[in-house]
Amino acid sequence: MTVDVEDYFHVSVFDGLVPRHSWEGMESRVCANTERLLRIFSDSGIFATFFVLGWVAERFPWLVQRIAAEGHEIASHGYGHRLVYDLTPRAFREDVRRAKSLLEQASGARVDGYRAPSYSVTPRSLWALDVLIEEGYRYDASIFPIHHDRYGIPISPRLPYRLDRGAALVEAPASTIRYGPFNLPIGGGGYFRILPYAWTRWGMRRLNEVEKAPAIFYLHPWEIDPGQPRLAAPPLGRFRHYFNLQRTESRLRTLIRDFRFSTMRALLETFGPPLDVEPVMGALPYVW
Ligand SMILES: [Zn+2]
Repeated sequence: MTVDVEDYFHVSVFDGLVPRHSWEGMESRVCANTERLLRIFSDSGIFATFFVLGWVAERFPWLVQRIAAEGHEIASHGYGHRLVYDLTPRAFREDVRRAKSLLEQASGARVDGYRAPSYSVTPRSLWALDVLIEEGYRYDASIFPIHHDRYGIPISPRLPYRLDRGAALVEAPASTIRYGPFNLPIGGGGYFRILPYAWTRWGMRRLNEVEKAPAIFYLHPWEIDPGQPRLAAPPLGRFRHYFNLQRTESRLRTLIRDFRFSTMRALLETFGPPLDVEPVMGALPYVW
């Protein structure tokens, strides 16, 4: 179970509408919504990984402390929610370094994981993986192995794998199901809200039972907040952001009843390639 901790106005679909300099003046709802998620998780006794935006950690360090104190894993969603392929390597390095340092200070724990805003590690921004290794990250969850208008590397492996780029970095993609030549997303966000719940349940069961693999699920605190202010995005963006917000919390409770969940760190220790490994030459799934 993973959560990308950001406010509703950070979402990339609103980039042109809510300029960064106005973020400070927007009504913030991220703390209340994250606390609701914490309550849902503690009611059911599950632990999750929270990929927290550095911008949020800087303003609300107590929220990061609280998440960590409840036994969840703190990971990084970068600092300023900038799409990786729009950044230079130097700007990306500053962004992930600043986020890691803010999150480690606030939580008092080591931050191992990173997930890019809008899964923006694509064929144009694979250099980001080398920067993550150099900045001390040990796993990445930014490569979505699907076709999408804004992200995705459809030929990427679907299950967690280890990239050997001089040092090791584990890549842990959001879950998909293979259907003919396609990978179909089953693991969260808009796909969880917009498609019927039965799709997620079928896909995750298939992954667990047929492929004997864990599913990696993700959502955002704003997805359980139907009362959030409405912003005037283009129609497709509005649909992706606002559809079924009122149903998501009860769906999430059902999902948690139907499956068992844990943190990314626990998942990678149990099922994935180990995080503490020496680099193995020739282990590349493909050459970048
Ligand atoms: Zn995000």
